[in-house]
Amino acid sequence: KVNEVLEVNEMKSAKSGEVEWEDNLGYFIKKKLRVWCRLEDGKWESGMIQSTSGDEAFVLLSNGNVVKVSTGELLPANPDILEGVDDLIQLSYLNEPSVLNNIQYRYSRDMIYSKAGPVLIAVNPFKAVPIYGNKFITAYRQKVMDSPHVYAIADTAYNEMMGDGVNQSIIISGESGAGKTETAKFAMQYLAALGGGSEGIEYEILQTNHILEAFGNAKTSRNDNSSRFSRVVQLAAGERSYHIFYQLCAGAPSFLKERLNLKVANDYNYLNQSECLTIDGVDDAQNFHNLMEALDIVLIRKEDREQTFAMLAAVLWLGNISFQVIDNENHVECVYLFNPKALRIFLLVAVTTAAMLMGCSSDELMLALSTHKIQAGKDSIAKKLTLQQAIDSRDALAKFIYGSLFDWIVEQINKSLEVGKQCTGRSINILDIYGFESFKKNSFEQFCINYANERLQQHFNRHLFKLEQEEYELDGVDWTRVEFEDNEECLNLIEKKPLGVLSLLDEESNFPKATDLTFANKLKQHLGSNSCFKGERGRAFSIRHYAGEVPYDTNGFLEKNRDPLQTDIIQLLSSCTCQVLQLFASKMLKPSPKPAASSQPGALDTQKQSVGTKFKGQLFKLMHQLENTRPHFIRCIKPNSKQLPGIYEEDLVLQQFRCCGVLEIVRISRSGYPTRMRHQEFAGRYGVLLSEKQLSQDPLSISVAVLQQFNVLPEMYQVGYTKLYLRSGQLAALEDRRKQV
Ligand code: ATP
Ligand code: MG
Repeated sequence: KVNEVLEVNEMKSAKSGEVEWEDNLGYFIKKKLRVWCRLEDGKWESGMIQSTSGDEAFVLLSNGNVVKVSTGELLPANPDILEGVDDLIQLSYLNEPSVLNNIQYRYSRDMIYSKAGPVLIAVNPFKAVPIYGNKFITAYRQKVMDSPHVYAIADTAYNEMMGDGVNQSIIISGESGAGKTETAKFAMQYLAALGGGSEGIEYEILQTNHILEAFGNAKTSRNDNSSRFSRVVQLAAGERSYHIFYQLCAGAPSFLKERLNLKVANDYNYLNQSECLTIDGVDDAQNFHNLMEALDIVLIRKEDREQTFAMLAAVLWLGNISFQVIDNENHVECVYLFNPKALRIFLLVAVTTAAMLMGCSSDELMLALSTHKIQAGKDSIAKKLTLQQAIDSRDALAKFIYGSLFDWIVEQINKSLEVGKQCTGRSINILDIYGFESFKKNSFEQFCINYANERLQQHFNRHLFKLEQEEYELDGVDWTRVEFEDNEECLNLIEKKPLGVLSLLDEESNFPKATDLTFANKLKQHLGSNSCFKGERGRAFSIRHYAGEVPYDTNGFLEKNRDPLQTDIIQLLSSCTCQVLQLFASKMLKPSPKPAASSQPGALDTQKQSVGTKFKGQLFKLMHQLENTRPHFIRCIKPNSKQLPGIYEEDLVLQQFRCCGVLEIVRISRSGYPTRMRHQEFAGRYGVLLSEKQLSQDPLSISVAVLQQFNVLPEMYQVGYTKLYLRSGQLAALEDRRKQV
């Protein structure tokens, strides 16, 4: 069997790769080797070629049928011995059906982890798989187990941090629902167990997951527990807002309900609009109790908790405020003075409760939401907003409160964890980041997400190629540099100043008369020469990302980039008696406010950073932090879109493999020499295969003699100053011979 692998390897290298594999069809027929055959429905089936004529082949499929296909639809399959290998790098043939099949083989046996060279692949099982917990943690810690696992990655990171004193990062990516957050939690669980187990700071850190998930996760159509951002004011049908709102409504004790004037979730516009209030199998009230426990363990102060709940209720009540149009120019007024009685009471309650919770008067709140102050000489006049402006300003306020609240909670957690704790300064960063997204319609959110992934991909490329190639060069290995797929051009398209998508977006956002269409036209006018840009009809454009081409619709780009929070609202917040609101507002207040006269509703305040620019800044900070660590990559794969166990949708998996470049990673790792051994070690182990006379030499010469004695082809190895570098599969064959001696 090993010989078979070797033979295949040799044939492949002699033919310099898989492109010319069609010349080898005869060999496959003679040796009765398996092939992959693409049928009309696009599915790959395995079989054996019986005969060929011209560019057609007759293939006997595993199910007994014989089909006639074009030879272009055939690819070599791997020998049986390689079925379900731990690491894709071991595959003799690296083509899509072979990779898909290998992962499926493992997945159907609950082996959800595999390696693709240096990268860990994790396929979401959508069920509890018995491979976690203390028993397994110990097994990985003591190296009794070494099959691919997130524990093994965490273990390596820990050892390298302790041993080499280098900070580490575990970078987890994948689509929504692929299992990033769960994987991150297992990594934390492992590290926590090494640190102390069921008490101490490690335990507290695990508990913070409950808090962060309550405030940061929501049910979406793709994941019942999705890590999200920006969904406080608008929900798609069937989706929910952040878990915490439902937990609070369902689980708050009566005294708290009374104090916050809290109703059931269905009574709030921000929650009832999507007609989805519960999640199957999830008990919101119970989760509220778990959250309270976690808050206790992490030592979040009682006052802070009370302020947090008050802010959550304020957000909900703000959502119930609506406006009354008073003239034919669509201007609005404080509605509760006008509406029919029943509605009037409903609105009155919303306004007064929101104002009470925020610590201002109802009039102040309504004035800030429905007007815009304009400076005229020394006086200021209140100009009425239009209905849409008023709604936007209410929603912007709700989003601002929630966003600030989230940041503030994270800050409180960090403070509580740091109090009195010793810090070594060494760290393992775990990054759970949203993966590349491409839908039928893609907006500003997808643009930001894909931009972040583009940067991460650059980090990934640089790291995997650079380190590998540096090692060869240092050890004097004769090595032609592998040029990797560089995504500099795409990053330039997005980031370059003054002519990049982000800069042009800011420019248009500053211009009150600009529209999404003028923005799209500007992009087409200035960016056409970049090969990653494609102008489309009307408001649309496309970007060629590393993971594929994505069409974007500029509809809403300007508004989302401005994220308008009027000065009037910030002033209102800073005058509120609620302390956290004052704090949130103080972060927004500028040192030298420019005269309000020039600021028009809808225009981007030049001193306030746009969402895009802020995002870029945060991304740079993150990348900088990662650059100073040794990275470990985990790619999570979603096997089906039903969130069910046991289903493997080939197309879906393939598309994810393509997006994260799994095949490229393996190819690169394989074009290198994954097996490395010091000459001493190699000579010691395989010297037994030589005669006495040859053994009197130095380790390097012994290594070379072993290779020559066993006819290892020259392209299968490289001799460095200190180490011997072998292509994959070579060592297995030598091991086989050694055993026979
Ligand atoms: P998003 O981008 O939407 O946040 P995600 O990649 O973080 O998605 P998770 O929330 O981690 O996805 O996973 C989705 C669901 O899949 C989990 O709620 C859990 O039910 C299941 N799951 C993921 N990984 C595992 C695992 N290793 N074992 C068991 N179930 C898992
Ligand atoms: Mg998540």
